[in-house]
Amino acid sequence: MSNKLDSLPISDASMGISKRAEAVRESETIAIDAKAKRLLKEGFEVINFSIGEPDIGTPNNVKAKTIEAVRKDITKYSPAAGRLDLREAIAKKLKDDNSLDYPPEGIIVSSGAKQSLYSAIMATINPGDEVMIPRPYWVSYPEQVKLCGGVPVFADTGEGFMPSAESIRQKITRRTRMLILNSPNNPTGMVYGEKLLKEIAKIAVENGILVISDEIYEKFIYGSKHRSIASLGSDIKELTITINGVSKSHSMTGYRIGYAAASSEIVKAMARIQSHTSGPSSISQYAAVEALSGNKDSVERTRKIFERRRDMIAKGLSSIPGIRLAKPLGAFYAFPDITEAFARRFGRLQGQSMSRTFAEKLLDDQKVATIAGEAFGDDRCIRLSYALPEDKIDEGMARISRFVG
Ligand code: PMP
Ligand code: GLU
Repeated sequence: MSNKLDSLPISDASMGISKRAEAVRESETIAIDAKAKRLLKEGFEVINFSIGEPDIGTPNNVKAKTIEAVRKDITKYSPAAGRLDLREAIAKKLKDDNSLDYPPEGIIVSSGAKQSLYSAIMATINPGDEVMIPRPYWVSYPEQVKLCGGVPVFADTGEGFMPSAESIRQKITRRTRMLILNSPNNPTGMVYGEKLLKEIAKIAVENGILVISDEIYEKFIYGSKHRSIASLGSDIKELTITINGVSKSHSMTGYRIGYAAASSEIVKAMARIQSHTSGPSSISQYAAVEALSGNKDSVERTRKIFERRRDMIAKGLSSIPGIRLAKPLGAFYAFPDITEAFARRFGRLQGQSMSRTFAEKLLDDQKVATIAGEAFGDDRCIRLSYALPEDKIDEGMARISRFVG
């Protein structure tokens, strides 16, 4: 298959905008959050289930180190791959938590996990290469692949949104170069078990396919244990780029610290790219050392809070007629199927996105912000982030119930 960008028409209306930029969709998670915040500012009492961002404060020990960084003048350029003290702290974290052995040369720090993903795809994908993504997917994966000239190919998930080895195998072609995994999953909240990971690892090794394993929600699992696919053997480790960060685990989304662990060849290529595009702030990196090496009680406290909220939202959504929910097992998202609720309230739709219409009307009518499942490749569902206080979750459930009628 040829690179899609080559076949795009040059638009007269583009006013100098590149084909690449024209082909990319705005991140809907960020756009709807901005809209919800605008409405809040205008005085509307919005319940904002849109963005995936912990509402909990950054831990005090991390805050103290942030201030210390400024006081100590740790305010200068850092190496393209990140500060050595932070890469050492990440190496220790990967060993302790994930049974993964990487030297600091196998680790690169980026400006959030989003940039880690982008640098990784940029460093490994050639124009026309196919990148397989289980669907539903996080909004930025296909767009990043397209920005790098790759072709996203979707593998549909089955019951409970779990991918199967077979659905992945079926979509492999001569051009398949990479597979992107995300467990715990955004938007579905599913967690991939060891058996499935082993089957996927086998396929990747047999076909020489690189694997991006986005483990950003690792710390938020309710009832099972996280397993890193790279820890399943040396063959799969060689092919895997493990992505993680402190944004979610330590409520540090604004610090912009993410990281990748991979073969030193891939890490070197990513660092060459970042030496021209930039990396994270020195202050954030200094604070992230504390997040990974200091007292971690706050992470478990946050996990417990999210587990309680997961239970609340699962109960709340499941009790609304016409809404069906596969109970989330991790992360902080619920991804209910609203097909029946939609039909009851609005009848059948023609030629429009059901989830988008539902989410838009829900925001207009009840001031409840959610994200249309269509943005994640599944128009039957909407996504709710439950990273918000319990009274807001309660109020949100009451409003959705009223809306559905
Ligand atoms: N991967 C997934 C699945 C996410 O939901 C997010 C959310 N932002 C990211 C990566 C990026 O994280 P960061 O904020 O560290 O860039
Ligand atoms: N990842 C979060 C979400 O899906 C934050 C927004 C973003 O980075 O796109 O809502």
